Amino acid sequence: MTEHPSIAEIAANLEGYDPQALPANEVLKFLSALVSPIKDIESVEIFNALGRVVAQDVISPIDVPPHDNSAMDGFAFDGAALSSTQALSLKIVGTALAGKAWQGQVNVGECVKIMTGAIMPDGLNTVIPQELCQIESEHSIVIPLGVLKQGDNRRLRGEDLLKGSPALRQGALVTPAAAGLLASLGQPTVKVMRRLKVAYFSTGDEILSLGEAPREGAVFDSNRYTVHGLLQSMGCDMIDMGVVRDDPQLLEEAFKAAAQKADAIITSGGVSVGEADFTKAMMKKLGDVVFWKIAMRPGRPMAVGRLTEGLRSAVLFGLPGNPVAVMVTFLAFVKPALLQMMGHTSDAPPVMRARTQEILRKKPGRTEYQRGVVSRNDQGELQVKTTGNQGSGVLSSMVQANALIVLAHSESTAQVGDWVDVLML
Ligand code: AMP
Ligand code: MG
Repeated sequence: MTEHPSIAEIAANLEGYDPQALPANEVLKFLSALVSPIKDIESVEIFNALGRVVAQDVISPIDVPPHDNSAMDGFAFDGAALSSTQALSLKIVGTALAGKAWQGQVNVGECVKIMTGAIMPDGLNTVIPQELCQIESEHSIVIPLGVLKQGDNRRLRGEDLLKGSPALRQGALVTPAAAGLLASLGQPTVKVMRRLKVAYFSTGDEILSLGEAPREGAVFDSNRYTVHGLLQSMGCDMIDMGVVRDDPQLLEEAFKAAAQKADAIITSGGVSVGEADFTKAMMKKLGDVVFWKIAMRPGRPMAVGRLTEGLRSAVLFGLPGNPVAVMVTFLAFVKPALLQMMGHTSDAPPVMRARTQEILRKKPGRTEYQRGVVSRNDQGELQVKTTGNQGSGVLSSMVQANALIVLAHSESTAQVGDWVDVLML
């Protein structure tokens, strides 16, 4: 088992680290020191590789495409014969079909009818698309002056991938395009990181599981469903541990079981100041955990650390209970950390800028994530308005939103028309 840095060691390396007022970018730095990529690799068929992380560079064993070939249906000829002063007449001496090499000999003044994807016959380097030439008879064509130049409409061998060159890099995500590229190499399988195992549960005595009878003061558990959806969209292996009552024994069992099975544990609820429950105490008892007050809204309290059970340990993300705070802290912090654990190295999707259509009141000194609806204005620029009530329990705001408006730590109120950062959801 690898040794992980302790909370104290990470904290000592972060200048000005203050767990009681931690800026959002410091959270990211801390988490990136806390987690490390898993090591296990598995081989999967290309169809099953979508959304997985490539475990080692994939080097192309062949040239793709394997031959010079035609990009059009037309006539292949030697482009050296093109002149700048007169049209070119050519005799048709055969037909090259896709999937079958044309073996004949082509002399000066001759051409071969060719289909898209057919191998370029020896000595020929240019294709005139059918629609650009005059077909004089079954046996001859005329290429009008100035319609093309030597090399046009020919795809070169290896122009997509050269044998020995990297087709995909370690850490890349297998997207639909990447799956197609892998298949084009002729290899039926690809080595990917194993799926990250993430256990999650909701805590709180007031939290009802679906199917339970409503009772006064209780609310239905929504966090497990949002967390489940977020994890599924990342391709994680999910271990759903239900709602865990505010009971030391149940919490201990849940945390221990999670640390035994999972790479990461995500809980919601029970981490805010003045919580009268056992969640924080149990996290502290079972692991190396710190309780933060993050300078952000929504989602101020958060617990992070590592829980150990026997020889295994799992990274803990103790999220706040409020449903919007759960989603925002997940997207802002947990997701990048999980991606790092998954071995994913591609760039995050770009933050965009949109003109705010309303005043966004804000004090410097914390990062705010407002739920926004981005559209285009009459000038074709992106514009954004909020979804209204920005309460951290108003989950419908996340449903209406297509973006998070991110107002950075040092920023103050944005006036109508100001450019603000938006993170598309
Ligand atoms: P807490 O962080 O435990 O103080 O919870 C903050 C708020 O979030 C409270 O109003 C809780 O009832 C609510 N909450 C906590 N967990 C959940 C959950 N799993 N689903 C929906 N609401 C929750
Ligand atoms: Mg609570």
